[in-house]
Amino acid sequence: MAKYRILLLRRGVQLGILLLYFGANAWGWEVLSGTLSSSKVFGVIPLADPLAVAQMFFAGIVVAADLAVGAMLVFFFYFFAGGRAFCSWVCPMNMVSEAALFVRRRVFKNRTWDIRISKKSRFGMLALALLLSFVTATTAFELISPIAVLTRSVVFGAGFALAIVAAIFVLDTFFVKNGWCGHLCPLGALYSLIGKYNYVRIFYDKQKCSECMECKSVCPEPHSLSPVAKESGVLKSGDCTLCGKCVENCGDKALGYVIK
Ligand code: SF4
Ligand code: SF4
Repeated sequence: MAKYRILLLRRGVQLGILLLYFGANAWGWEVLSGTLSSSKVFGVIPLADPLAVAQMFFAGIVVAADLAVGAMLVFFFYFFAGGRAFCSWVCPMNMVSEAALFVRRRVFKNRTWDIRISKKSRFGMLALALLLSFVTATTAFELISPIAVLTRSVVFGAGFALAIVAAIFVLDTFFVKNGWCGHLCPLGALYSLIGKYNYVRIFYDKQKCSECMECKSVCPEPHSLSPVAKESGVLKSGDCTLCGKCVENCGDKALGYVIK
């Protein structure tokens, strides 16, 4: 159990956030109301998804002041804390992608029909999301975003749109390892740009490393661990989700969190 303390902490944060949203809708709690797209803390402090607000801007929709402030607050939080920390500590789709990874490895033993997609495709998806908003004058990606769909389903009740989430589970399990989060998600792409220079990082100590490469086998973004077996230092990739899988699976304690 102690080995998975970071995983348990992440699940606690992810589920706790969903519970607060659900509680706000069902029982009138005021700690955190709304959805991940736009919410209020204690009914006062606005928070907003920067990509949703960017889509509104490109769609020509007037962005209300509290939404703009909310997007700025979220932007600066992840700018310092690590952009893709959103992915492994907050986004509910992370639970879907990690469940698919588990099924892929443990049930199907990686006997799947893998197709290759470039990890850079997500930046194309980000550009496409903004372009579609501009062309259609709607927040195009927001309407079909699995993140928004899953959050809305938990808070307001499940609908047919959950099929999008199921399709991603199938994609990740059978066709592309970490397909959505690691290759296609435009929000993950935006957060990897936001977190490029963040302060919370993973540190690697070559002196302690026996080069078993267990860290790379569990990492959802293995290229983030490029310094492993080469040189000590902080991982620089903005793609690192700060999930801590490498930390909790390293038997040599050669990896850990650090504030640079
Ligand atoms: S990549 Fe996208 S869907 Fe996946 S955890 Fe990050 S924001 Fe959520
Ligand atoms: S380097 Fe470690 S913390 Fe970063 S994504 Fe990979 S496993 Fe997670």
